[in-house]
Amino acid sequence: MTDPILSVRNLRVVFPHRHGELVPIDDISFDVKKGEIIGFVGESGAGKSMTGAAIIGLIDPPGYIERGEIWLDNERIDQLDVRAANRIRGRRISMVFQDPLTSLNPLRTIGDQLVETILTHLPVNANEAKRKAMAGLEEVDIDPGRFNAYPHEFSGGMRQRVVIALALSAGPELIIADEPTTALDVSVQAQVLDLLKKLCREHGTSVILITHDMGVIAETTDRVAVLYAGRLAEVGNTHELLRRPQHPYTRGLIASTPAVEYGDISTELFQISGTMPRLDALPSGCAFHPRCEQALDYCASHRPELQQDGVACWLYADG
Ligand code: SF4
Repeated sequence: MTDPILSVRNLRVVFPHRHGELVPIDDISFDVKKGEIIGFVGESGAGKSMTGAAIIGLIDPPGYIERGEIWLDNERIDQLDVRAANRIRGRRISMVFQDPLTSLNPLRTIGDQLVETILTHLPVNANEAKRKAMAGLEEVDIDPGRFNAYPHEFSGGMRQRVVIALALSAGPELIIADEPTTALDVSVQAQVLDLLKKLCREHGTSVILITHDMGVIAETTDRVAVLYAGRLAEVGNTHELLRRPQHPYTRGLIASTPAVEYGDISTELFQISGTMPRLDALPSGCAFHPRCEQALDYCASHRPELQQDGVACWLYADG
């Protein structure tokens, strides 16, 4: 689990705006290793989903990648034409969205949808595609006898398992799972996350798991990237980061999550004051400074960069 399957370098996404430009992603760099599950965490508006959209080439116009590079294995994928990008989507990178009904066609059986996906992306005939579809259903603990059932005949958790089968059906190198369990009952969430984790381990598939929930991060990921206002605040091994968070925003996120019981961080529930800034009103310097209880005078005017130790905060800067 050492080679990066995905490398993102200095990614900057811009949306033209009548008063200039909005920058939901600003100078983000990270790697995803083969077989690794990396979590992207932060509040709504942190830039998690936008980063996923940039990787899979689905930024809504007029937004665009103004700067940076995205590499999948050894292929640069941020400058592909539509046909080449379509060949990568679903085949080499697939998505699992929050609401399975956005991924499934309500008018077609789940079997049809699996077979169509497999035929679109893999060089197999119809019989082989059907065999693979059946096997995919079995893998996600759905009776292949329900091949001809429609999405509305399944529970929410089962539908999300069908979506995971769809996402894995073409053998992708990377799955981007965007809040995959947020719409599900708490009791079902853990089952779906466990299944996603187990299958990706077995298939050697890397995962970017987008979530606002530190509990999900703790249970599921190997590494975590904390985003704030479109920038990386902290990156590190999940276990280490949860035990010893450094960035004040990371500490706040953990302290406000009842399910995370690492060290003495979350014995008392905490609320980070204020809200995520609007894109057209990003604070100068460290974007977190208006909410940060440890802010220095310097923080309001100087933007911290992510350092070798994985933290972007002046509290930890040399000198
Ligand atoms: Fe707080 Fe300053 Fe660190 Fe930003 S750079 S998180 S304002 S201490």
